[in-house]
Amino acid sequence: MTTLEEAKRCPRCEEPGEHVAAEDRALRSIRGAKVIKIYCRNQRCKWYNTPWTIQVNSNGTIPLALLNRDKKFPKLPNRGNSVVENLTRQVELETKTGGAEINNPNG
Ligand SMILES: [Zn+2]
Repeated sequence: MTTLEEAKRCPRCEEPGEHVAAEDRALRSIRGAKVIKIYCRNQRCKWYNTPWTIQVNSNGTIPLALLNRDKKFPKLPNRGNSVVENLTRQVELETKTGGAEINNPNG
């Protein structure tokens, strides 16, 4: 069973984050529900001092969609470096000409 304690763990480093209660917000669309902000306090983590939000329902439960985020957003399959290389090339093309202009193959 997943709990708030689990949801408060940083998605990056999985260390428990810090709940900053001062930034709690009521959720208008769902009665009694609120959105709380958690900050990663792990200095070695890329998300250090970066907040993420958790929706907490009035009965203290957390929507399943958020709890299953690891399954919903699986890591990209390892396809070597081709994807990265393509992205790098794309960025180079777009930055070289000063825009995202694509050559017209029809002249
Ligand atoms: Zn972290």
